[in-house]
Amino acid sequence: MIDLKSLKSQYINGEWREGSSNLQIENRNPFNGEILATYKAGSNDDLNHAYAAAQQVQKEWAKTNPVSQRDVFDKAVAYLEANHEAFVDVIIDEIGGTRLKAEFEIGLVKNMLKEASTFPMRMNGSILPSPIDGKENRVYRVPVGVVGVISPFNFPFFLSMKSVAPALATGNGVVLKPHEHTPITGGTMIAKMFEEAGLPKGLLNVVTTEISEIGDNFVEHPVPRAISFTGSTATGKHIGEVAGRNLKEVHLELGGNSALVVLDDADIDLAVSAAVFSRFTHQGQICMSANRLIVHESCYDKFVEKYIAKVKTLTCGDPKDPSTIIGPLINERQVKNTVDLIQKGIDEGATPVIKGNVNGNIVEPVVFTNVTPDMAIANEEFFAPVVSILRVSSDEEVIEYANQSPYGLSGAIHTEDIERGAELAKLMDTGMIHINDGTINDEPNVAFGGVKNSGVGRLNGEWSLDAFTTFKWISIQHEKRSYPYS
Ligand code: NAD
Repeated sequence: MIDLKSLKSQYINGEWREGSSNLQIENRNPFNGEILATYKAGSNDDLNHAYAAAQQVQKEWAKTNPVSQRDVFDKAVAYLEANHEAFVDVIIDEIGGTRLKAEFEIGLVKNMLKEASTFPMRMNGSILPSPIDGKENRVYRVPVGVVGVISPFNFPFFLSMKSVAPALATGNGVVLKPHEHTPITGGTMIAKMFEEAGLPKGLLNVVTTEISEIGDNFVEHPVPRAISFTGSTATGKHIGEVAGRNLKEVHLELGGNSALVVLDDADIDLAVSAAVFSRFTHQGQICMSANRLIVHESCYDKFVEKYIAKVKTLTCGDPKDPSTIIGPLINERQVKNTVDLIQKGIDEGATPVIKGNVNGNIVEPVVFTNVTPDMAIANEEFFAPVVSILRVSSDEEVIEYANQSPYGLSGAIHTEDIERGAELAKLMDTGMIHINDGTINDEPNVAFGGVKNSGVGRLNGEWSLDAFTTFKWISIQHEKRSYPYS
């Protein structure tokens, strides 16, 4: 099995190296605390080298034959498939993801690479008419140049790849900064795949560091023309401000507090399965998780009874055990935040009908009923296996409760009446919403993104093509033009 855990932490201009700052980063297994690796963090010098390398080779890459470009993505998929178990192993050990989560994430990565492999052949431009006699207007789709990608800790392999692959496939150079807790899954294992797939040196660079070492330089640096950020709303607001001040195009995929709605005519068993899957996958650390369940009073008791019964069957513990559904949260800080917010829910008067224990970084499921929309637990993002159930008596109340959240990422509506569901979905302030399904869906060809505090911009398919390219107008004056005064 290839050893992804021994990769050095920086991949710059095609070379594997340690960071040049004095800060040490410890990469720990969140389940058992074992140290997977200790690194020297990247510095601003490393960042400068990474951006310079990407800038130097980008134009040549943009001119490369699109079939040759496409081959790189096909080979990256082949490398991933040939070394599947090694990738699963790191996702389990570095992130505390269960085997189920690892397989799910790898599937998403493969689909994203396959979608990106079509981009080199989709760099279409257009020829437009002109009001000027003898002029031909050509509009070329061109790469933005160099893209800076910043990824979070929860689905780092996929969420890094979601920007890295389309950015490269549209002819850009890339510098990737993974989360400091997931340097391999979010960074170096992606570099390794592309190195093995024959991507020219310098095009993709990985800088692993702490923000204390580089400040805002990742975004402020003059080389990147676009920044693709996935992470929390608080950090995203800051990144957006810095990017705006420096006139960088910015794509922000941020936090969520999605609602799964169960209407009076819903298939309750299906709704329960969708709601459990949507909340407890990866121990609730998914931006699209169904944090809030909004249930019609006519089926409330039946739904809650079945939901509780199903939650009680979920096994918590070692993510290496294939039967585990709930593994550890990423670190002690997230556990503390979760415990504090649970206590807030109790203090506000919600009822914890299930209240699991906390063992190390494992937080067992917590289910709150008697939740009202004004409570903190209904409004703040729980990045943990904790759920709030709200009771409603009408469709109007469904919309009111759902839209009260400052977030607007995903959602779901369960009903036998598809068109009633679709009409309600139109009234929900959310970027994505699914009828008779869970809230966790990400497809490589469909617009993905949020509204309100959940982000700005869309990724996947043609939206990623647009996100990482711009247009250049080249006009050709075929007939001699006469000017008014010369
Ligand atoms: P985070 O905001 O703490 O960190 C995200 C990344 O930003 C990390 O790599 C971090 O090092 C980096 N960062 C922080 N300050 C920076 C700066 N000044 N310059 C450059 N980079 C900086 O988020 P997290 O805790 O890793 O992730 C969890 C959050 O992400 C949750 O809120 C979740 O909902 C959200 N998320 C959203 C999506 C989505 O697609 N909408 C997907 C996954 C996660």
